[in-house]
Amino acid sequence: MHNNTPEQAPLGVLIIGSGFAGLGLAMRLRQQGSDDFLILEKAAKAGGTWRDNDYPGAACDVPSHLYSFSFEPKTDWTRRFAPQAEIFAYVQQCIAKYGLHSRIRCNSEVSEAWFDEPAGLWRVTTVDGAQFSARALVSACGQLNRPLYPQIAGIERFAGESFHSARWRHDIDLSGKRVAVIGTGASAIQFVPEIVPRVQHLTLFQRTAAYVLPKPDRAYSRFELALMQRFPWTQKLDRALQYLYHEARGVAFFVLPGLMKLYRGSFLRHLQRQVTDPELRARLTPDYPLGCKRILISNDYYPALTQPQVEVVNQAIREVSERGVITADGREHAVDVLIYGTGFAASDFLAPMRIRGLGGLELNQAWKEGAEAYKGISVNGFPNLFILYGPNTNLGHNSIIYMLESQFPYVLSCLQQLQQGVRYLDVRAPVQQAWNQRLQHAIEHSVWEQGCNSWYKNAAGKHTNNWSGFTFSYRQHTRQPDWSDYDRVR
Ligand code: NAP
Repeated sequence: MHNNTPEQAPLGVLIIGSGFAGLGLAMRLRQQGSDDFLILEKAAKAGGTWRDNDYPGAACDVPSHLYSFSFEPKTDWTRRFAPQAEIFAYVQQCIAKYGLHSRIRCNSEVSEAWFDEPAGLWRVTTVDGAQFSARALVSACGQLNRPLYPQIAGIERFAGESFHSARWRHDIDLSGKRVAVIGTGASAIQFVPEIVPRVQHLTLFQRTAAYVLPKPDRAYSRFELALMQRFPWTQKLDRALQYLYHEARGVAFFVLPGLMKLYRGSFLRHLQRQVTDPELRARLTPDYPLGCKRILISNDYYPALTQPQVEVVNQAIREVSERGVITADGREHAVDVLIYGTGFAASDFLAPMRIRGLGGLELNQAWKEGAEAYKGISVNGFPNLFILYGPNTNLGHNSIIYMLESQFPYVLSCLQQLQQGVRYLDVRAPVQQAWNQRLQHAIEHSVWEQGCNSWYKNAAGKHTNNWSGFTFSYRQHTRQPDWSDYDRVR
C-alpha cells in the first residue's frame, strides 16, 4: 500500500486515473526508466472506461488497431472492432508488462489538491484521508467518467430496479421483464440489441433520434492473424490506413460541413432498408445534420427496434412514477426495470475534485464560464497541473489514443523542465486566451454548430469538449512546448 505523506519525499508525478491516459503516461515514464510516479485510482481496480462500461454488447467504435497504443501494438485482436472484455484485457496486459501494479493505488479518490507555491508542490488528499505531495499533478480522468442520471420528476419514486449503463447491474436478470431504456446514444445502441431477445417488453425512450450507420466489423481470419503475428508491420500498416481513413472524415466535420448532406442521403437509404415500417422510420429519422452529435455505428440496432416486443417512444418524459415512466401525453409505461443510457457529465472535467492553484484560486471558479485549457493540457493559475484528454481534445472523427499520444511527450517535456531547476511552469493567461479564441472560432464553422444539443457543449452552450481540427495539426501543436508560452519560475 502506498501512503506518501507530506513528511515523506515528494513524488515526481501524481497521476489521477488509471485508464488509457494515466496508464499510457505511466508506460512512457517507465520507458524512460522513471519510477518516481504514482497513479491514484478511485475504483477498486484499474482500467478506466473499459472497466466501468461492461454492459452487454460494449465494444469500441474505433478499430482496435487504431484504438491501442502505437508503442504497444497488439497483433491478435480477434475483430476489427474489439469487444470491451478484450480491450480491458489489453489494459491489464499493459499494466503487467510495464510493472505498473506497484505504482497504482486503488480505492483512492482524490478529494482535493492545492498548489503549495513556495515548495513548488501539489498537496493532494484522497477521500480516505491519505495525503500525497508531488512536483507535478496529472489529471487523467477523461471526459466520460461520471455517469449522468437524468433529472426527471419523481425518479426516486420508482419501485423497480434502476441503474446506469456505466454501472450495469449484472445481478439483475432481465429475462421476461418489462424494461425501459432512457437514451439512444453510443451506449444504448450497443446494449439494446443485446437485451431485446431476453426481455418481455422493451420501451425505448428516445429524445433525439441518432444517426446509426453500418458497422464495418468482422472477425479477423486465421490467415490475417497469422500474417500479423509473423509480420507485425502489417498490423502497423493497417493502423496507418485506418488513421488516414478516419482523418479524411475530418474534412466533413470542420472544413466543409456541408458535405455531411451528401452522406445523409446514403444514411436514409440504409434506414429504409433496415426499417420497413414508415411510421417507425419517421420516428428514427434525425432532424439535424449528420455528425452534429456523435455518429454511431451498429448492424443490429435498427433490426432490434423492429422486433414485436420493442416500442420506441419519442414522446417527452413527464415524470417517473412508482410503476414506470409517464410521458407528456399522460400515458404510463409500466416497467420492472429502468436503465439509464443517459451518458456522462462530460463538461465537468475534474469536478468534483477541489483543485486550488496560485493564490488559492479554485479551478471551478476559473472555469465558471466553462472549462478551457491551453492545448487542452495547461491552465493558467494552476502550475504543474497537466490534463490528459482535457478540454477541447475530444474527437468526432478519429481515435482519442492518437490525441493522448500527442499529449504524452508534451507533458514529459514539461516534467523534464521541473527536474532542471524550474520550480513551476504556469501557462501565461494571454496565451491560453488566444488559443481558445482561435479554437472556438474554428468550432463555430464546424458541423457541431449546425443545430443540435450534444455533450460536446456545456449547459451554457460553450464547446468545452471537442478539438476543432485535424489530429495531425494537434500533434504539430503539441510536438514541443514553447517555453515562452509559460512563466517558468525558479
Ligand atoms: P450520450 O451519447 O450522451 O447519450 C445519452 C442519451 O441519453 C441521448 O440519447 C440523450 O438524448 C439521452 N438523454 C439524456 N438525458 C435525458 C433525459 N433527461 N431524458 C431523455 N433522454 C435523455 O451518452 P452515451 O451513449 O453513454 O455515450 C457517451 C459517449 O461515450 C459517446 O458519445 C462516445 O464518445 C462514448 N462511447 C463510446 C463508445 C464506443 O464505442 N467507443 C460506446 C459508448 C459510449 P439527447 O440526444 O436528446 O440529449
